[in-house]
Amino acid sequence: MRGTSRSQLAPYAMRVEDSQGRRYTEPLHAYRNDYERDRDRIIHSRAFRRLENKTQVFTRRYSDHFRNRLTHTLEVAQIARTVAQALGLNTDLVEALALVHDVGHPPFGHAGEAELDRQMARHHDAFDHNLHALRIVEHFEQKYAEFPGLNLTFEVREGIIKHSRDYDPARYPELREYRLEERPPLEAQLIDIADEIAYNCADLDDGYEAKLLTLPMIRRGVPLFDKFHRAIDRRYPAAREKLKFNEALKRLLDALVTDLIRATRQRLARARIRSVADVRAYPKRLVGLGPQLGLADRGLKQFLHRRLYTHRSIGADRKRIVASVRGLFAYYLARPRSLPPFYFAQTQEEPPHRVVCDYLAGMTDNYLLEQHRKLLGG
Ligand code: MG
Repeated sequence: MRGTSRSQLAPYAMRVEDSQGRRYTEPLHAYRNDYERDRDRIIHSRAFRRLENKTQVFTRRYSDHFRNRLTHTLEVAQIARTVAQALGLNTDLVEALALVHDVGHPPFGHAGEAELDRQMARHHDAFDHNLHALRIVEHFEQKYAEFPGLNLTFEVREGIIKHSRDYDPARYPELREYRLEERPPLEAQLIDIADEIAYNCADLDDGYEAKLLTLPMIRRGVPLFDKFHRAIDRRYPAAREKLKFNEALKRLLDALVTDLIRATRQRLARARIRSVADVRAYPKRLVGLGPQLGLADRGLKQFLHRRLYTHRSIGADRKRIVASVRGLFAYYLARPRSLPPFYFAQTQEEPPHRVVCDYLAGMTDNYLLEQHRKLLGG
């Protein structure tokens, strides 16, 4: 049987045979459908392998068992697949979308992204990681003799840009083909919330391991976690603190995922959604938590912002990262011939600041620092 069989799919799931297809027509594969092939192309891409050396929240300086963007991506894929299966969505499409969702992120997490955006703003331009991911799969991955990029199906490309935000058709005429006035299929909508659940839980875990968050701090700041922790404490009073923490976190993750499935099902029923066309035409996104857990999730997010993302130790590397991005940006902009030949060729067709941004955004954490040392001695 190929992936999710037709009979298991809900009427509002995206069917691979209804795909708008690839930019360049290719013959069908003997036993893999087009979404499965897209997933495989993503896994075999360079951008996917580079995720291993890109910071999620904690740089390698902390520990090498914390999440990086690759392990984060696998967690998102696992959560998204579970939810998709329960809702009868297309798990092949969901898996492809989850695995590709972070490939557009520049090195060094939020700090790297913010600095790249600042540099682009000086040229009245901007950096958007979703649009960058689209450029990666359309142009920068050079693997096949027949076409540039990975030649992914329309729904995967559409999901890459639209999974987490909408784009105003008036501001982005170049994205017109992506049906900007419509909502993306449920498979793409699911990625955004699976991403959020994955990183909220993972950041609690890594923050606790890094000792930037303590158990009393988490119990005070995250009431839902506290509720589960109390129950665990009653059941396993003698267990080690870390094990109780793990058990409570596991229940928190499970509660969020279960609520996501339940609330989404309810929303689909209330809105009488019976097809992908209904999903696309509906004015709002339909995949999401219910009101109660939605509130708890926002509280958790705020807690992490207050206590973890703005923590002094997390920001300790920031100055160095910002200086490296800024320094290299200026270096390549002034000397486009020092770019690799593929990127230098691009400067003949596109504004040099865009090409420099693309090149830097594609770098891993290590490569960025290495280039900075080599070229600027910092
Ligand atoms: Mg992510």
